[in-house]
Amino acid sequence: MHIVTTIAGSDSGGGAGIQADLKTFQELGVFGTSVITALTAQNTLGVTGVFPIDVDFVEKQFHALLEDFSIAAIKTGMLYSSVIIQGIAHIIDDLKIPLIVDPVMIAKGGESLLQQEAIEAMRMSLLPLATIVTPNIPEAEALTGRKINHFSDMEEIAQCFFQLGVQCVIIKGGHLPNSLYAIDYVFIKNDKSFSMQSPRISTENTHGTGCTFSAAITAFLGQGLSIEKAIIEAKKFIQLAIMHDLDIGNGHGPTNHFA
Ligand code: PLP
Repeated sequence: MHIVTTIAGSDSGGGAGIQADLKTFQELGVFGTSVITALTAQNTLGVTGVFPIDVDFVEKQFHALLEDFSIAAIKTGMLYSSVIIQGIAHIIDDLKIPLIVDPVMIAKGGESLLQQEAIEAMRMSLLPLATIVTPNIPEAEALTGRKINHFSDMEEIAQCFFQLGVQCVIIKGGHLPNSLYAIDYVFIKNDKSFSMQSPRISTENTHGTGCTFSAAITAFLGQGLSIEKAIIEAKKFIQLAIMHDLDIGNGHGPTNHFA
């Protein structure tokens, strides 16, 4: 059995964060373990509270896993503060385990899941350790200080990530306006770049999409797929999860992890 780990925040509403990651791991046949960085009080209408976990206890959870399990891949989601980022980066630095960084910053409802002061720690401490980073366009802009207007800007942004030490960048194009398609741009250092296009699905129930996508990549990488294959399979999985969206709650429902 392949064991993978998510280091992320809890979503009490069950659609994003740790809960989305563990459901995705289960669905894709890997054994999921977790390090919780923050609790959120949350439902499909939005986030009503954030309670960060003390960094010592975040590290304690991580050490407990490392002392016992052979972990095949790790993903990070909501990390909230620079102290937490530095704490976990320090531990990951000594490991030789593929790391997928989903640089979660702001929930769709506008609530902050990463303090502004933590962006620099993400850039300088965590990204240099990342095998794959999966920013959406606002996250890519915040992490590189550059604006994306055209495709050529994406290539430049990918170079910025490569310079930090990242091996593969996926820029998720879901935020691009006027597009009939959701296009994601993939850049692999010293290798190929390609885009993945899928028809844009008209639904409001997309809560947790980013978490689920990066969790699926983690599951596939943990099973030994190549970076390229893991990304392509994860894209298929997230497309199905959005197509079979769950209309639960009174707000933006989640994607369907059982699709
Ligand atoms: N809550 C947690 C704990 C998350 O990690 C995330 C996303 O990464 C969200 C909420 C936001 O989910 P969404 O913006 O997809 O609604």
